[in-house]
Amino acid sequence: MLLIHCPHCNEERPELEFAYAGEAHIVRPNEAEQAEMSDADWSKFMFIRDNIRGDHAERWWHAHGCNMFFNAIRNTVTDKFTMTYKVCQKRPTEHQIKVAKND
Ligand SMILES: [Zn+2]
Repeated sequence: MLLIHCPHCNEERPELEFAYAGEAHIVRPNEAEQAEMSDADWSKFMFIRDNIRGDHAERWWHAHGCNMFFNAIRNTVTDKFTMTYKVCQKRPTEHQIKVAKND
């Protein structure tokens, strides 16, 4: 069984308690920026996401636990979670991801 570390509960919990919630670090344009956006740009913001082969920053939801969202670096090839972190934290650098893999 795949275990996922929730940074809020600070526990490893079974994957069945979690739900994938999309790509992390997607910044919604403010109202002024939205007013200037073309339909094509708005469509791109709403629907187009990266499809990375390798380490991907993702948003996860501890739906059957603390009910909090958090971010994770997950390898899309191996399905291995390298690290999880709170939504308020910055995306880890490549160096931080590399160090976490060696832990
Ligand atoms: Zn939790």
